[in-house]
Amino acid sequence: MALYHTYRPQTFADVVGQEHIVKTITNQIASGRVAHAYLFSGARGLGKTTTARLIAKAINCPKRKAGAFEPCDACDSCQEIRGSRAIDVIEIDAASQTGVDNVRENIIESARFQPTKSPYKVFIIDEAHMLSTSAFNALLKTLEEPPEHVVLILATTEPHKIPDTIISRCQRFDFKKVAYDTMKQHLEMIAKAEKIKVDADVADRIINKSDGCVRDAVSLLDQIMATGEKHITADAASLVLPTARVDETLRFVRSLILKNAAD
Ligand SMILES: [Zn+2]
Repeated sequence: MALYHTYRPQTFADVVGQEHIVKTITNQIASGRVAHAYLFSGARGLGKTTTARLIAKAINCPKRKAGAFEPCDACDSCQEIRGSRAIDVIEIDAASQTGVDNVRENIIESARFQPTKSPYKVFIIDEAHMLSTSAFNALLKTLEEPPEHVVLILATTEPHKIPDTIISRCQRFDFKKVAYDTMKQHLEMIAKAEKIKVDADVADRIINKSDGCVRDAVSLLDQIMATGEKHITADAASLVLPTARVDETLRFVRSLILKNAAD
């Protein structure tokens, strides 16, 4: 299994670097004031879908105590959501289902019926900005009068493409790029769990290259770990993260090739 999936947060405490969002949402869950519609915006790989699944897990977890916000992460409901096979948590990839017919069938019609075995039906719409105008219009009616048992979570990397009428009916949260130190701690946690040592200069380059995106940082570490080294030095990582010298050499070779081509 990819490292990113292994270390995907399964509780709110594990979410990396989105404290402002986690605080508000966990307060809502603990006090039973979860909104019917959310809009999660921000760059890819920051945890929008992960957070959406955590909300679904928490509000549908029968073991969650009154006033608490964390899902138990052990009951059937939590396990089903973790494995993406919960019947009442519907994930829709708007990039491949842009049309109004899909939205009617998979969201609007489905939302009318009670959940099968959970308190809430949760719809997670990824890449929501890809929906067609007529699909958004159809969705608007559900957002205006959401059934009591429905929570809709729209996730998007391009919020400016979402109609204002939709945005105004959602609680909006902007996911931020993860700060350097937070990312460093996260990589250290994974390295420790995987029983490997990552040299500081390698960690530094992973963090800089991933530019605040947790998924990219963990994927880079995953690729480097594929070499099988238990102690990851700049040399061991050089195939995935070329050192400055390799970069220079490549540039030099390229310039020679271009020069030859010009001659
Ligand atoms: Zn549970």
